[in-house]
Amino acid sequence: MFALYFCAPFREQLLEHYANNKADAEENLLTCLADLFSQISSQKKKTGVIAPKRFVQRLKKQNELFRSYMHQDAHEFLNYLLNELVEILEKETQATKADNETSSSPEKIANVLKAPLANGVHKEPIVTWVHKIFQGILTNETRCLRCETVTARDETFLDLSLDIEQNSSITSCLKNFSSTETLHAEDKFFCDKCCSLQEAQKRMKIKKPPHILVIHLKRFKYMEQLGRYKKLSYRVVFPLELKLSNTVDEYVDIEYSLFAVVVHVGSGPNHGHYVSLVKSHNHWLFFDDESVEIIEESAVQTFFGSSQEYSSNTDHGYILLYESLGTR
Ligand SMILES: [Zn+2]
Repeated sequence: MFALYFCAPFREQLLEHYANNKADAEENLLTCLADLFSQISSQKKKTGVIAPKRFVQRLKKQNELFRSYMHQDAHEFLNYLLNELVEILEKETQATKADNETSSSPEKIANVLKAPLANGVHKEPIVTWVHKIFQGILTNETRCLRCETVTARDETFLDLSLDIEQNSSITSCLKNFSSTETLHAEDKFFCDKCCSLQEAQKRMKIKKPPHILVIHLKRFKYMEQLGRYKKLSYRVVFPLELKLSNTVDEYVDIEYSLFAVVVHVGSGPNHGHYVSLVKSHNHWLFFDDESVEIIEESAVQTFFGSSQEYSSNTDHGYILLYESLGTR
């Protein structure tokens, strides 16, 4: 949550939205989060703690998952929170739209009602400010190996979950993410042109990079032999400045700057705790529950992970937040 607070576009949009809609808003997760953020931002004292009590209560009320004190995965939490906010914003937009439509001419209403039936087109998806900040588009390209036809299918994402390897880097994880996979044997692809199942090559590229890129490192892996999840403490280097190269437009490098890291502390998935590193006004801050301290930028690398399996350092970068610096 500290990471989201320090995500300036998110904080500003949330507070602005809240200020504009405060009057007629029922209490929901969005209003509780906005309340909490405005309390933090209006805090004059340098020290002091604001307990996110109302927000946590709301969260528990809404979701079974967060009611218990069992393992709470920060990635699941972020996902849940963003999707929940999107849903609230979509409902609000729909409600405003419906209000406007009933006040417009009867002719218009008739058109609105007829339009979707006439050509069977789905209604335009609503783009909320959460989408504008976090949403990117991936394109899944499949090339039929018989006729060479490329079929592209787009999908949106709010974060990227990457498989990790020992002694690797975000760049190599992204490369693997976009590596070519051959579909053959049982996995063949139905080619519309050949009208049959064919061998094909598939790869995933980023078509539209998001403004804020959220990268989730898959540190919790289900081990079949163990019958449970295990934490991978692998060392994965994450740069302060990231160049995104697995984009559809290969000749354009999109540059990103790291501004927050959610760190998982602990050796296993079931016990552990989260701390955050956040960049604010050119200083890196280390948040551990109620304590905040300034750390050197060079200290960020102590959270890359361990190059050996058994290490006393159990603080590992888990979720990374990068802000786009645009194209170079
Ligand atoms: Zn084909």
